[in-house]
Amino acid sequence: MTAIVPLHTDADILIVDDNPANCDLLDALLEDAGYERRQIMTDPRLVLPRVAQQRPDLILLDVRMPHMTGFQVLQALNDAHGDDASAVIILTAQTDDDTRYQALALGVRDFLTKPFDQTEVLQRIRNTLELQRLMRERSERASLLETLVHERTQELERRSRQDPQTGLPNRIALLEALEQRLQARIDTGVFFMALDGVDDVARLHGFTTADLLAGALADRLRAVVSDSNAVLGVWNSTEWVVVCDSTIDDKTIGALADRLLHSFATPFDIDGMSLHLAVRMGVSASLPERHAEQLVRMAALALPKALGVWQGYNHDLENALQRRTHMRAALRRAADRRELYLVYQPKVDLIQQRIIGAEALMRWQSPEFGAVSPAEFIPLAESSGLIVRLGLWVFEEAVRQLATWREQGLVDAAFGVAINVAAEQLAQKDFAQVLIGILANYRLPAGLIELEVTESGLMQDMQLAMQQLNVLHQAGFPIAIDDFGTGYSSLAYLKTLPVSVLKIDRAFIREVHTSTQDQRLTGTVIDMARHFGFRTVAEGVELPEQLHRLQQMGCDVGQGYIFAPPLKEGALIKLLESDLDHLFSPDSAISAKI
Ligand code: C2E
Ligand code: MG
Ligand code: MG
Repeated sequence: MTAIVPLHTDADILIVDDNPANCDLLDALLEDAGYERRQIMTDPRLVLPRVAQQRPDLILLDVRMPHMTGFQVLQALNDAHGDDASAVIILTAQTDDDTRYQALALGVRDFLTKPFDQTEVLQRIRNTLELQRLMRERSERASLLETLVHERTQELERRSRQDPQTGLPNRIALLEALEQRLQARIDTGVFFMALDGVDDVARLHGFTTADLLAGALADRLRAVVSDSNAVLGVWNSTEWVVVCDSTIDDKTIGALADRLLHSFATPFDIDGMSLHLAVRMGVSASLPERHAEQLVRMAALALPKALGVWQGYNHDLENALQRRTHMRAALRRAADRRELYLVYQPKVDLIQQRIIGAEALMRWQSPEFGAVSPAEFIPLAESSGLIVRLGLWVFEEAVRQLATWREQGLVDAAFGVAINVAAEQLAQKDFAQVLIGILANYRLPAGLIELEVTESGLMQDMQLAMQQLNVLHQAGFPIAIDDFGTGYSSLAYLKTLPVSVLKIDRAFIREVHTSTQDQRLTGTVIDMARHFGFRTVAEGVELPEQLHRLQQMGCDVGQGYIFAPPLKEGALIKLLESDLDHLFSPDSAISAKI
């Protein structure tokens, strides 16, 4: 049994034969079989224009014709339409091999031999149309697939150049935009914005809020750059970049910088909260020989230290960077070369009016750089991870020193030493165990070694820091929050940490005797700290007025130049023997006791 062949009676069929009788015969046959769309053509020269206008599904093509042979017509069709050409069945009386080979080489689907056998004609036409349909479907599916793949590739390509949170161009896209401008020799400015506060928002309110905040910031900055030919993009979550036309001398750079800064002036309303962001901005401009990455690096190098301001790149920054690089290398060798030592700043009990301990502070006497301020070398050590090793050296040295003093009877049994601990140290998994091990070697009670950590240090890796602090607290180390008031300053939140001492930052003490606002702030902190059971230490006490005020407020301990600057070991011991009475006037001492 032959399979049922679909008819495709709606197919568009073109009959091309110079013999009208043949044409009529085929046409009648097709009509009888139900084919509705037929056209007869006796002049082969008309085939191409017709096909160009409307491509038939099938062409029944005679070979021998005046003006053009069937093969010439075929060739012309192939040239014009290639793979997309209509299916062709050759009508021929000749059945010699050459004709067949030539026809097959030109891609004909089938042959019909004259005189026609009606059943065979219909069957071959149906077969050809069915095959044509299958091929068309397959090619449609292939091109659909091709379109989908193309769209998907474009989507991936787009995403690979987009910051997922804000939809802004990412680093790759920014660098490309920059490179294009530089290649086109367009004077270009780069604004490198270091955002301050994004990480805090993520830690305190979660990543969804941080993403919303980033979106709101993107909207504001977009509005600022929208009227210029500038590109706003995200270098990483806390560092954003604007690329714009201009040169560094151009006034527009300054104006744009100010407008960008101004975007941070008002808080963002997110989820009913009023969130603040601050920014520092470095600016660079293209010089003929610069590369894209170099320009960004220059802008990043120009980042000022202070929030809310911008700074343009200049060559001195390069020198400063070089100095830092050299200094970092020198610092790496400093401990081994015995260039580091500790100084001790006394801590004075404000009620007993006597020295009860000292904070150990690191000093570096470099043969190359001279006496380097901790304000310079500590951040350097922190950013390079070197602080982990140096911090350990400080701890061991301070503990050794205290043990020696005790052995020699130079300090009383309750005299303690405070040691600064950097964030990177708290992020070390074995940090607590290492300290406990060192302390055991010297047989000192842990209660004498106070560990000062900053709020930002705690925040860097909260979980790990908590773990370490809990272990240390259990082992008996008192934990102090250093520079309190400069960070998050949530006392309720600190209560969840194993903290027992708050060191109120110098910034609040500086005007505690003149500014009522600072007075109120410091007073509140001291009251609340007492309520929560924290001891308070005032940092940077310089003047008798400050001291008296702090005594009145009930602050427990003072530290500052009024008593002594950080001292070398010998000077500290000498100071322990002296009297501090002259610093505490009778009046304030009495009021502090009330
Ligand atoms: P800090 O821990 O808050 O130390 C107090 C700083 O205030 C010391 O600065 C001290 O010299 C200074 N100071 C004390 N009294 C007064 C005063 O009355 N007036 C003024 N204007 N300043 C006063 P120093 O020694 O320059 O240390 C600066 C910072 O460097 C320290 O701040 C601490 O954060 C860090 N640091 C110092 N040594 C170490 C260390 O061994 N490890 C770590 N991680 N950080 C250290
Ligand atoms: Mg400290
Ligand atoms: Mg401090």
